[in-house]
Amino acid sequence: MVSSPAKTFAEIASNQPPTGPSAGLGTAIVLGGSVAGMLAARVLADHADTVVIIERDDTAAGAGGRRGVPQSSQVHALLSGGSRQLERWFPGFIARSVAGGASLVPPERQAQYVDGVRKVIGADIRLLSATRPFLEGRIRADLLELPNVKVITGQATGLETGETAVTAVRYESAGTPGREPADLVVDAMGRASRLSAWLESAGWDRPPVVRVPTGINYATAYFRRPPGEHPYGTALAIPSNTLRKDVGGAVFAAVEDDRWIAMMGGYGDFRPGSTAEDMIHRFRTELPSPFGHVAADEMVGDVTTYHQADSRRRDFWACDRLPARLLAVGDAVASFNPLYGQGMSSAALHASALSMFLRSSPDLDAPARDFLALQRVIVDAAWQISASGDRAGQEAADRPPAHDRLARRIVDLIIQASITDSAVNAAFQEVTQMLRHPSTLAAPGVVWRAWRARKNPLPAPSPPLG
Ligand SMILES: Cc1cc2nc3c(=O)[nH]c(=O)nc-3n(C[C@H](O)[C@H](O)[C@H](O)COP(=O)(O)OP(=O)(O)OC[C@H]3O[C@@H](n4cnc5c(N)ncnc54)[C@H](O)[C@@H]3O)c2cc1C
Repeated sequence: MVSSPAKTFAEIASNQPPTGPSAGLGTAIVLGGSVAGMLAARVLADHADTVVIIERDDTAAGAGGRRGVPQSSQVHALLSGGSRQLERWFPGFIARSVAGGASLVPPERQAQYVDGVRKVIGADIRLLSATRPFLEGRIRADLLELPNVKVITGQATGLETGETAVTAVRYESAGTPGREPADLVVDAMGRASRLSAWLESAGWDRPPVVRVPTGINYATAYFRRPPGEHPYGTALAIPSNTLRKDVGGAVFAAVEDDRWIAMMGGYGDFRPGSTAEDMIHRFRTELPSPFGHVAADEMVGDVTTYHQADSRRRDFWACDRLPARLLAVGDAVASFNPLYGQGMSSAALHASALSMFLRSSPDLDAPARDFLALQRVIVDAAWQISASGDRAGQEAADRPPAHDRLARRIVDLIIQASITDSAVNAAFQEVTQMLRHPSTLAAPGVVWRAWRARKNPLPAPSPPLG
């Protein structure tokens, strides 16, 4: 079923309505009702009489932060590849988000800096900018319009499997045990999912886990955004590989309720921006002046911090023994260095891969290997961009294998050229925004253009506000 990774990626990432027969399921159960779970539920609603989401948190309580998603107070960029899939699964999603206060930021109002140098405008991409609770609340509102989707507030506690397939889910709701028979179960319980342990204790294979240490420290704060149009709606400042390795980057973005969300990131023991004074000082003195202007506005609330130790993937595709009628999506499968902003968009693409699988008349009484192959293309693509970059930083001293060094050199060449050449920047952004597969960067035209542009004179860095 899987052809070249680039072609498969393009098919999954399409913006076209899905075609092909429905899988004709009775009940599909999704464990975890966050972004990945809700998008899987949206796809399953086309294939099942009833879709049941079992979510630990009481999500009816409103769209604010909640216990099950402790990262939700941190900045969450929605990549263009993710917003395209949200629009595909919930037509009108972008317009409804903008009507609710989100910003739709055109290319000329997106500022990107490398070592303080402003990059040229690249792809013709409009970024949908809002907070994580807003986006999650918007998805939930759209999803719960579907008559065959319902939510049980409860904690999933285990699976029942017959000889070859999952048959039911066990859960606890308000202290009472429950059991729900299922024709298909999707794990969307996030990074801390217990699925691997459940599988192992029932005699199935436990998926191997790959971890790449990141040790990233986040600090996020909100500032009041004065009325009117501002020169920039989003900004990102990152260091090139030549500067301090512990500097992660900084971001600000216009979000709902007339606020800016602003973030600084650092690695290891470096925790920039973790107090209000430190964040405001660094925004004014270390970053290009638009950051200083944001920090001159009034801070709303406190700085919140978050530490993530590693990027992590569970390779279900490498298991020999898996039950049929079971899948996993989102962070339960792979979670990345958050600075690359890939999590929600990966989750959306997993859902689209699920749709492709279910519409291919699969044999649901066999392990879902065709789904795993499709999903692996998405996971590998995101991993190649984020975790490989992190690993490259870590292994610089250990001399990685020759083919990795060559691939890294091409990526470095493209990153350098993307600062001054808009066509190279467009190709680079389409990949980092998860619209296209990373292998498209190795196209001779892109590499040639990057080679020619590598020595373009760099503009002067934008000075801080001071
Ligand atoms: C600091 C930080 C910044 C990030 N920034 C970005 C960004 O800029 N852009 C981006 O796209 N992504 C970002 N991410 C990643 C993003 O948060 C996730 O990828 C995204 O939330 C999708 O995750 P998910 O739905 O798979 O899991 P989660 O969002 O983690 O949700 C898991 C859900 O499962 C529920 N659950 C868990 N166990 C059970 C159980 N036993 N029974 C029932 N329910 C259960 C939880 O309550 C929760 O609702 C960031 C992550 C971090 C840590």
